Amino acid sequence: MDFSLSEDQQMLQQAAREFAQNELVDRAVVADRDEVFVADSVRMCAEMGFLGMAVPEAHGGSELGALGSSLVLIELNKACASTGTTISVHNSLACESIARFGNDEQQARYLPRLASGEMLGAYALSEAGSGSDAGSLVCKATQDGEDWILDGTKLWISHGSVCDLVVVFARTDADARTRGITAFVIESAWDGYKSGKQELKMGLRGSPTVELHLDGVRVPAANVLGEVNKGFGIAMSLLDGGRIGIASQGIGIAEACLEASIKYAGEREQFGKPLAAFGAIQEKIAEMATRVDAAKLLTWRAAWLKDAGEPHGREASMAKLEASRAANYGAKEAVQIHGGAGYTRDFPVERYFRDARVTEIYEGTTEIQKLVIARSYLRA
Ligand SMILES: Cc1cc2nc3c(=O)[nH]c(=O)nc-3n(C[C@H](O)[C@H](O)[C@H](O)COP(=O)(O)OP(=O)(O)OC[C@H]3O[C@@H](n4cnc5c(N)ncnc54)[C@H](O)[C@@H]3O)c2cc1C
Repeated sequence: MDFSLSEDQQMLQQAAREFAQNELVDRAVVADRDEVFVADSVRMCAEMGFLGMAVPEAHGGSELGALGSSLVLIELNKACASTGTTISVHNSLACESIARFGNDEQQARYLPRLASGEMLGAYALSEAGSGSDAGSLVCKATQDGEDWILDGTKLWISHGSVCDLVVVFARTDADARTRGITAFVIESAWDGYKSGKQELKMGLRGSPTVELHLDGVRVPAANVLGEVNKGFGIAMSLLDGGRIGIASQGIGIAEACLEASIKYAGEREQFGKPLAAFGAIQEKIAEMATRVDAAKLLTWRAAWLKDAGEPHGREASMAKLEASRAANYGAKEAVQIHGGAGYTRDFPVERYFRDARVTEIYEGTTEIQKLVIARSYLRA
């Protein structure tokens, strides 16, 4: 067993770290304060090749695999979780859906543009009545000659207001529940596509989360992804990879909390000593650091399995469960270590606290991760 990263992986990690710290940190503060999309950060990520991490080199991507992508996502999220979410959804849900389930023509048509950043990709599964129970979705696709007509409203769609392409899941058989759902690739420029209300969120304020209205969107048969009525399996299988991305986000936030706390505990003095000298503070640092490492080991195991072509659903859920807990624990303790200062916007830990919260909610809540893990053992 070898726990070391290769020289190439270390170089990738270092390049992502320098880029994120130099370019994303200050922009994250502004995007959060003004609640504006992190457009410049995403454009610069494209220049770094980070929009093509899930795209094969043959289609212009950087083809980093799950482990390479995790290394990059940790660094991006450490600096700006809104950018991290955008890059994770674009790669692990939008690009990967076409790279894995698209036919040759779909891959040639979309992957180079997604990899270069000419197109930003989104993923639309959730609806008002179907969140955790995604298989009960009602957004409808009706066949009209060679085409399909999509009608319905999706909810919670990350960057749905600024994207160019969306992988949409719609019902093609009203009586078949999860066996009656099909995946479609649609372009936001098409007639009938309209982004609606933007959620006013606690965190991730640089990543717009919107309602998406599909009002008679005409989709050619050439844009059906995979087979008709086989979309639910695609959605679930993509989420296995997506969860490695969100686990990486949790690690990034938890690491940022740890580093900020170490710095502050070394600088701030009370009772004539730095905070770092107090046992209660040391205990928090030890817990935070241990949870970061536990999350990393679980996440990189899941990524390693995925890259090896092995089943990784249970492991991805374990990674997301633990990393999102590490992020929330780390954020809570980081605010505590900063005292009153941690409750203000003068320090980034206040934002980390708000950004961390969603990692236990999206791409499957904590409760759903436990359900997936338990079922994999109990076959219940
Ligand atoms: C910022 C943000 C961005 C998002 N981006 C996207 C996106 O790009 N695309 C997309 O499709 N979706 C997106 N989502 C949606 C997200 O995936 C859902 O919010 C999530 O799956 C939970 O669904 P829900 O909100 O309907 O909660 P519900 O499913 O209503 O759950 C409410 C509570 O009940 C619990 N619960 C539900 N069922 C069970 C059960 N069987 N056992 C135990 N507990 C249960 C849940 O764990 C949760 O605690 C996003 C959400 C947010 C907040």
